[in-house]
Amino acid sequence: MAGRFYLKSLGCKVNQCDGDELARLLTDLGLERASDPSGANLCVVNGCTVTSTADAKCMKLVRSLHRANPSAHIAVTGCTAIHLMDGPAVDNAGHATVVCNDTAAWQRIVDELPAPTSEYEGHNGPPADRTRAFVKVQDGCDAFCAYCIVPYMRGMPQSVPRDRIFADVERALARDAKEITLTGTRLGKYGGDMDPPSSLADLIEDVAGRYDVPRIRLSSIELATLTDELLDTFGRVSTVQHHIHIPLQSGDDGVLRAMGRPYCPDEFREGIDRLRNLWPDIGVTTDVIVGFPGETAAAFESTMSFVEEMAFSRLHVFRYSPRPGTPAAEMDGKVHERDVRDRSRSLIELGDRLAAEFAVTHAGRTVEVLVESRRHRETGSPMGFTGNYLTAVVRDAKNDMINSIVTARVVETDGATLVCDVG
Ligand code: SF4
Repeated sequence: MAGRFYLKSLGCKVNQCDGDELARLLTDLGLERASDPSGANLCVVNGCTVTSTADAKCMKLVRSLHRANPSAHIAVTGCTAIHLMDGPAVDNAGHATVVCNDTAAWQRIVDELPAPTSEYEGHNGPPADRTRAFVKVQDGCDAFCAYCIVPYMRGMPQSVPRDRIFADVERALARDAKEITLTGTRLGKYGGDMDPPSSLADLIEDVAGRYDVPRIRLSSIELATLTDELLDTFGRVSTVQHHIHIPLQSGDDGVLRAMGRPYCPDEFREGIDRLRNLWPDIGVTTDVIVGFPGETAAAFESTMSFVEEMAFSRLHVFRYSPRPGTPAAEMDGKVHERDVRDRSRSLIELGDRLAAEFAVTHAGRTVEVLVESRRHRETGSPMGFTGNYLTAVVRDAKNDMINSIVTARVVETDGATLVCDVG
């Protein structure tokens, strides 16, 4: 036994899936997974570099791991590794090695690990979360949006072969997962690079036809890949959950064009209308960037009113940060930091209000909740998600209801959270 590793993945769901894959590789190389860094002789940070905040988080984690366990070898991998391959930043942050996805490199690291500490009293394995599983089906992107570093980091779209996807689904079902989220950087491009070509719609039908998965969810999909074929599949496959995450990024036509996004607000509205006609109870979530170069006060106001009109059920707001090497990093029209902060705050407040308004439409209704092991901080009641991705507290759920889908009545709402009773 070469020892134990502690692994933490940051960033998007695709990166989380990459982290799971790396954990399997390290296990195959003879290491056990530790639930905390104190007893590990290898600490891995699977980092994200999508914004400067993500970079900072990664460095902070490296430093805290080094403090928690100075004798452990620290390795940084993932998008951060590709980004930092030539830079000294990681070494300065805590004696870490940068490792790209390369089995031989991991083998070398494992061979040269310091001995594990003997006084480890933690348990092995990652934190248990068997309820929901993320299955990576696609990686890479060729859209080259002006602000985005992903195509440079992850390369062109590549679909995961069906047999690997099926193996991941089987692994998730074997640990009794009730919900599978199909995940990809550009999920809607699934199958386009295959020979013969396939599609996300085909994949969903295959997974649903082959396995008894109670819930199938999609991670995030671009408007341009919301095809008629996919909408037909949504209508046919009843286990696809009534929730969709479509990144908007801006509600202003000019900013969208400067970002290189291939749609205007009218087309976005049309896509959402089609989804709402299909699933009237759908939860539509989105991402918006504030402070993109050249975003005027008027452009930001257009975004505010469009977001309000779209009535998103959840909003992720990102402050623009230039990523070196992307076209936007060279653009004029930098928005003053104070304005970025104010715009971000206004949009977050709007997002919170819309989320609460969406939740309130469920009062008195019956919903299906997949109950998870996590508990509501104040009441200790079990929590879970509805199909349309609302957080629900199920006040009277018994322990044996954890990891099952229960029918519950919405008694009241607390902000964007549903408060429910079973039955
Ligand atoms: S679609 Fe645009 S924002 Fe999304 S990963 Fe590709 S380049 Fe980045």
